[in-house]
Amino acid sequence: MLTTYDCDVLVVGGGIVGLSTAYALTRAAPGTRVVVLEKESGPAHHQTGRNSGVIHSGIYYRPGSLKARFAVRGAAEMVAFCAEYGLPYEVTGKLIVATAHAELPRLHALVQRGRANGIPVRELGRAQMAEYEPAVRGIGAIHVGTTGVCDFGAVAGQLARLAEDAGASVRYGAEVRAVGRRASAVAVRTSRGEVLRARALVNCAGLHSDRVARLAGDTPGMRIVPFRGEYFELAPDRAELVRGLVYPVPDPAFPFLGVHLTRGIDGTVHVGPNAVPALAREGYGWGVVRPGDLAGTVAFPGTWRMARRHWRYGAGEVRRSLSKGSFTEAVRRLLPEVRADDLIPAPSGVRAQAVLRDGTLVDDFLFAESPRMVHVLNAPSPAATASLPIGREVARRVLAGLA
Ligand SMILES: Cc1cc2nc3c(=O)[nH]c(=O)nc-3n(C[C@H](O)[C@H](O)[C@H](O)COP(=O)(O)OP(=O)(O)OC[C@H]3O[C@@H](n4cnc5c(N)ncnc54)[C@H](O)[C@@H]3O)c2cc1C
Repeated sequence: MLTTYDCDVLVVGGGIVGLSTAYALTRAAPGTRVVVLEKESGPAHHQTGRNSGVIHSGIYYRPGSLKARFAVRGAAEMVAFCAEYGLPYEVTGKLIVATAHAELPRLHALVQRGRANGIPVRELGRAQMAEYEPAVRGIGAIHVGTTGVCDFGAVAGQLARLAEDAGASVRYGAEVRAVGRRASAVAVRTSRGEVLRARALVNCAGLHSDRVARLAGDTPGMRIVPFRGEYFELAPDRAELVRGLVYPVPDPAFPFLGVHLTRGIDGTVHVGPNAVPALAREGYGWGVVRPGDLAGTVAFPGTWRMARRHWRYGAGEVRRSLSKGSFTEAVRRLLPEVRADDLIPAPSGVRAQAVLRDGTLVDDFLFAESPRMVHVLNAPSPAATASLPIGREVARRVLAGLA
């Protein structure tokens, strides 16, 4: 019997990764019928619309890793994409600043890593650092030339328009609730009661990617543990304290970069994000608790193994989240003039961080394939920067499965 398909490829998730995948499919194989299903009323409601907006250079990532390859290429492509479509962006460069002697070896290691990844990096003395950022204090710094800022929500919207112009359909308010697979097709049922059949499915569900993989009958071998990142912004009359982007030296035990100072494309200076456990996958404040999400996180053995390993760091982050005084104190290491009154609460974001059963925080991007499906299981920062190469990679995998 001939199977009838509603489309060739179903993409679950209208964040920047899903929309970039849809766009790449229409470019790599024109005529492929693509449908994107997004549960919210528009694109980029979650990670893509709630981040630092930084086009990362790729300096932090292990040479040869997917993050390094895709971020370096993706940063250049993101700048070109924004320029081509008239989206706001700026290549500002950034400083990474050591505030303690113990951080200097790690700062030097970053210089080596950046050069290995082909990134322009300059070591700065205190006087040179002050020329860039007079109000920032540190004992050593490096300048990375290719870092920039943009609006990833606007990029996602543009990708949706380009995919639609090429024949794709992007449907909002369509949550995928069930997934079935036969030898010749996949089928999904949405919250609107629609059933759609396709030749293949791509899972770009971000904070829900492990759930969608399980709905499809696959065993992803990881779990998304949501980590909220909280931000403040500098009061307008204090925004001149920060001219560009200023980052601390990251702790290599964590995939998070530490609280940084970011002058965005609208001139607002954001201070953050920290990294605290979220009590719901879309838990944008301590008051948002979803017992189902929480029970799943607590029942997962990897959560406890991770907590045992990192409790000291985690406790510090929670303290700084609950006490503005502690948060301000931490920021003052980089920016001594800042006072608690200068910091105005700003919207937070939640990172979809994959954790393995043994408690390992997955560092690199992670994809998994099964018949007729490609799952994007770990796409945290810098996946927005790297979204164009990631989309092409996912499109390549799904088209190879259909050939
Ligand atoms: C605080 C923070 C700061 C960050 N800073 C940066 C930065 O400066 N630079 C950078 O490059 N990256 C940054 N990132 C990372 C970046 O935002 C993410 O890597 C990127 O947005 C991931 O995109 P995505 O499409 O995978 O996920 P998302 O944007 O979360 O999209 C997933 C989509 O899937 C939808 N969905 C889920 N389940 C279903 C379902 N069952 N049916 C239908 N739809 C579904 C969701 O509604 C959502 O819209 C940051 C992230 C955070 C949280």
